[in-house]
Amino acid sequence: MIMQGKKGLIMGMANKFSIAYGISESLKNQGAELIFTAQTDYFKNKISDIANEFGGHEVILCDVSKDGEIENAFDQILKDIGPIDFIVHSIAFSDKNELLGKYYNTSRANFLNAMNISCYSFTEVCKHSQKLMPNGGGLVTLTYYGSEKVVPNYNVMALAKSALETSVRYLADDLGEFWIRVNSISAGPIKTLAASGVGEFSKILEYERNRSPLKRNVTQKDIGDACTFLLSDLASGITGEIIHVDCGCNTIGVKF
Ligand code: NAP
Repeated sequence: MIMQGKKGLIMGMANKFSIAYGISESLKNQGAELIFTAQTDYFKNKISDIANEFGGHEVILCDVSKDGEIENAFDQILKDIGPIDFIVHSIAFSDKNELLGKYYNTSRANFLNAMNISCYSFTEVCKHSQKLMPNGGGLVTLTYYGSEKVVPNYNVMALAKSALETSVRYLADDLGEFWIRVNSISAGPIKTLAASGVGEFSKILEYERNRSPLKRNVTQKDIGDACTFLLSDLASGITGEIIHVDCGCNTIGVKF
């Protein structure tokens, strides 16, 4: 029970297939108390059963693309629940029409929106995290290998993830003096709502499964357990890192 007595916020739960769900299960199994945000009232209702399953706090509204919503959500948590110990940012977005074909067809509008939701939102979460975690704590965001090497159709999301990974290093430096650690998990491909927007995603799954030293795709549980470790006191000396949880795929160069 390495998270016993710790409370935390999960941002980015869409349904039971979400990576956030695997993370929540693992954190709860280790004793953590969880709070959730949702983008709109529609999604708030959709995940209310999940929120009950994991602790029963009311789901708090937070569209991370809108000015002020992150700060307002954090103020509400502080008022209703009090200080917390960790935050999971499991959020990304791009118009799925631009996650297929050539990267150069990305529109300016979608480029900026993808960067705003998938990268800038984490910077804003970190900026306001000191207020919510006055005694220190941990933050984890989710990234993908497409930030490092070309993965077909990942396109603008790859750029957002590269920027997100760089921001993890700067944010870790900014927040270290407040005993707040900032890390990222580079997850292998998992079939989720967001992932289904990436063109030919089933081919990526199959390719990674075949290349993987562990001869399988990664699971929500793999990601959840790694995230729990990073947020626990067992990882007290780890910050600014991108941890690959992908059954070893990123280590393989050429495989015959
Ligand atoms: P998911 O279940 O669809 O989760 C994505 C979440 O992002 C949803 O809960 C969605 O909320 C939220 N979101 C999008 N725009 C938002 C906004 N403006 N404000 C607040 N929330 C917003 O998909 P997932 O695969 O678990 O994705 C979670 C994270 O893991 C993402 O960062 C993704 O890039 C990353 N990741 C995924 C994979 C993979 O293969 N699945 C691999 C590596 C990394 P709504 O449901 O309300 O729209």
